[in-house]
Amino acid sequence: MTFEETTLCESLRNAISKSGYVKPTPVQKHGMPIVSAGRDLMACAQTGSGKTAAFLLPILQQLMADGAAASSFSELQEPEALIVAPTRELINQIYLEARKFSFGTCVRPVVVYGGVSTGYQMRELSRGCNVLCGSPGRLLDMIGRGKVGLSKVRYFVLDEADRMLDMGFEPDMRRIVASPGMPPKEHRQTLMFSATYPDDIQRLALDFLRPDYLFLAVGVVGGACSDVEQTFVQVTKFSKREQLLDLLRSTGTERTMVFVETKRQADFIATFLCQEKVPTTSIHGDREQRERENALADFRSGKCPVLVATSVAARGLDIPDVQHVVNFDLPNNIDDYVHRIGRTGRCGNTGRAVSFFDPDTDSQLAQPLVSILAKAQQEVPSWLEDSALGSGGSGFAQQRNSFAPSNPRKGSSLQDNCGPSQPASQAADDDDDNWE
Ligand code: AMP
Repeated sequence: MTFEETTLCESLRNAISKSGYVKPTPVQKHGMPIVSAGRDLMACAQTGSGKTAAFLLPILQQLMADGAAASSFSELQEPEALIVAPTRELINQIYLEARKFSFGTCVRPVVVYGGVSTGYQMRELSRGCNVLCGSPGRLLDMIGRGKVGLSKVRYFVLDEADRMLDMGFEPDMRRIVASPGMPPKEHRQTLMFSATYPDDIQRLALDFLRPDYLFLAVGVVGGACSDVEQTFVQVTKFSKREQLLDLLRSTGTERTMVFVETKRQADFIATFLCQEKVPTTSIHGDREQRERENALADFRSGKCPVLVATSVAARGLDIPDVQHVVNFDLPNNIDDYVHRIGRTGRCGNTGRAVSFFDPDTDSQLAQPLVSILAKAQQEVPSWLEDSALGSGGSGFAQQRNSFAPSNPRKGSSLQDNCGPSQPASQAADDDDDNWE
């Protein structure tokens, strides 16, 4: 119930209090003892609920207790913990958290991700590495170059686990666990965290987890953060731009993320807003890594209070004071919607999400949206409900298969108001930007 009750060492306790954490969040309360007890875990908790510390703290505690110390004498670094996440910005954010919590100790985290100099990252690695945070492509590259060995891995963490196991990254995950020296699942601890877990991904995850893994659900599996007020505006393709401008003019300098579906659209909308004198920047997969990082920095600092983004920025990013998320284009699957609006309303703060709904293109999302709104106890517009009924079937329950008894998972379940989960996202169009 409290951080004082845990067996965390003094340096971690100091870091926790410096971070301003007074008491553990629910996913920390339940998740940390599971990780410390050596169990595999699939944890589901809403966006912004403190999942990063839920895995970092017990891992760092154990490494410190075991006297893990980075060695700078070896060309080949063999980390004890391996953490993967789907985007460069997110893995860097996890690394910065790990560095904050391990500051002043012998445990050394390192990060590797694409789009920046390999030489610098190799030099950082060679200075010693206990906790390696990586995006899949660069991580596999480092393993291939003989810079990273996996034989000492005790913890394998998949953040945004459903994304790491879907069609885009699954082959990379299989390559990582099949890499020379990587302990089999029986001899490592595998930890998965996300706010969403489609059923088929849960089944696939069994390949990576020990059969007695625990499933921890805080709130509704796949549910939206209840601290985000969700509203919908009916639009047509041609009215959206002006409606966006009106909206942004009314919100003034509030920090706002505007999500669009394609990289081209991100450039187009960002340029349009700049021409209209709204200080805007953008992030998507075709921008140089330096540009992506500058865009985030300008957004964080408030220099550009509007960030136009593709789904590359939908998951995990923890940017303080994002008051407002706009779905200029709705995504093509409900999980992306949940992650996108989760960029606001983080860790007890409130936020607002406004989504443009174009009946010509978005009607397939009406049913799952109604379901998400109802579960978050939010008002459902009658026109959206009509659209849901019109787009097939009367019950939105059919959109999400009931999670609990019929699920073929073997592991025991620690469910807390556990609700249904949903079908996996399907193949994206060519210009979709969900990737590393
Ligand atoms: P995460 O879901 O891990 O991205 O965390 C969301 C935000 O909550 C981050 O800004 C964390 O620093 C913050 N946070 C995590 N745990 C706690 C806690 N126990 N008390 C207060 N804030 C926290």
